[in-house]
Amino acid sequence: MKPLMTRRDVMRLMAAAGLGSAFASRTVADEAVAGADVTAELKLIASSTAQRYPAVLSGGKVIQPQRPLPIFHETDVLVVGGGPAGFAAAVASARTGVRTALIERYGYFGGLWTGGLVLYVEPTHAKINNQWIKTTCGIGDELLRRLADIPGGIVHYGAGQRNPTSDPEATKYVMDEMITEAGVNLFLHCWGVDAIMDGSAIRGVVFESKAGRQAIVAKVVIDASGDGDVFAAAGAEHEQRLHAIGLVHRLGNVDRTDKQALGKSGIKNLGAETPLPGVTWINLRGPSANCLDVNELTRLELEHRRAIWKHVQRLRQTAGGEQAYLLQTAPQLGVRTSRLLAGAQKLMLADARAARQFPDTIGVGGADWGPWPIPYGTLVPAKLDGLLAAGRCICVDAKLIEDMRLIATCLVTGHAAGAAAAIAVQSKCRPRDIEISRLQKLLKDQGAYLG
Ligand SMILES: Cc1cc2nc3c(=O)[nH]c(=O)nc-3n(C[C@H](O)[C@H](O)[C@H](O)COP(=O)(O)OP(=O)(O)OC[C@H]3O[C@@H](n4cnc5c(N)ncnc54)[C@H](O)[C@@H]3O)c2cc1C
Repeated sequence: MKPLMTRRDVMRLMAAAGLGSAFASRTVADEAVAGADVTAELKLIASSTAQRYPAVLSGGKVIQPQRPLPIFHETDVLVVGGGPAGFAAAVASARTGVRTALIERYGYFGGLWTGGLVLYVEPTHAKINNQWIKTTCGIGDELLRRLADIPGGIVHYGAGQRNPTSDPEATKYVMDEMITEAGVNLFLHCWGVDAIMDGSAIRGVVFESKAGRQAIVAKVVIDASGDGDVFAAAGAEHEQRLHAIGLVHRLGNVDRTDKQALGKSGIKNLGAETPLPGVTWINLRGPSANCLDVNELTRLELEHRRAIWKHVQRLRQTAGGEQAYLLQTAPQLGVRTSRLLAGAQKLMLADARAARQFPDTIGVGGADWGPWPIPYGTLVPAKLDGLLAAGRCICVDAKLIEDMRLIATCLVTGHAAGAAAAIAVQSKCRPRDIEISRLQKLLKDQGAYLG
């Protein structure tokens, strides 16, 4: 049957009503109305005349010549990576009034939380004497609270609840709001590729974008890339571990499936609840692999997508599952662990399990086995200056990685790294030399929980 009105008809009507330019063309339409003159949008601009320094093939080797790089931006604190840790770090730093910039390789914030579709935020609480206490406070909790103000933004958040699940688009939206309100200078689609060194201190980052290589100079850099890209480039000591690399997907129409019938056919996992009705997310563990190896990443992307596709097709062909559909595979492959900083201090599982107190506690991790204070030394490189790590690449015992890398803990360590970097700038000292009592006071003033 012919539709009553095509999209173009709607566009013409909106244009006639004066809505075309303000709303339709920017927000809804993906193509111009037929016959419209779009040459104004096709404006010819000057091509870059910057001098080029292409690599050369010489004696069988590819040589990149020495070259000056344009300084794109100067800042006090530069955060690399806008996942949960980088987001919290940038907001914490900018809220002190210190000039803060953030570069992110993709076009949105949230990292694996939003782009990886890992929607379950844990562990927001720790169990003490059979009581759950909230350990994810401050900027992380503010984000969750603001998600709760949005219908369909989050579930299982609020009094008596813990470990909520958020909607990825709502999470991106609230992160955009908070990070913009804080006054962070944001640069998306920028991939940090090298460190700018001044002796044993890092003084900024070289990034790649469509415009080529450029530099951002900073007094303190926070590596929140998840994989320690910056500290590795700067030559900081670290270790690298392999971990299961998976790919998360979302299913739609799960509420229209017959779970009993599917169960009889052996299909039991229809994913975990999300804030959207009928939509679930399904985790995938995957094999232990190396995220620094693009051959492995390419193979896993293809293998995981094929497996997910086949799994969902089988579901749709099984009695009771006909209505379900594959809503989305995650835009980002699920890298759980890779590089870990060799820090001024390594937090050991035994100390965490014993809830050992540290004079430099900057946050508390949650767990069903109890709260575990996190010392500042886990964020500070053993030797390198001018840099802090945050999120899933901080310095912990291998046995603590499973707790340390979770979203709620990354929000906590990100918050601390941002506050610490700001204090180092204000105090004109190295991050390792800041006054810990001042950091702890700032964190408490910003709502963080330190035990
Ligand atoms: C499959 C899977 C399932 C998981 N399940 C859960 C769960 O159920 N609950 C839970 O709480 N946690 C879960 N996690 C863990 C959690 O999602 C991550 O560990 C957490 O998001 C880490 O936060 P982060 O900020 O340290 O790093 P990331 O989330 O990895 O963010 C890093 C950010 O830095 C950017 N970036 C990276 N390199 C560069 C660069 N060189 N230049 C510029 N930008 C860069 C990335 O694009 C990204 O935005 C899971 C992880 C995976 C992989």
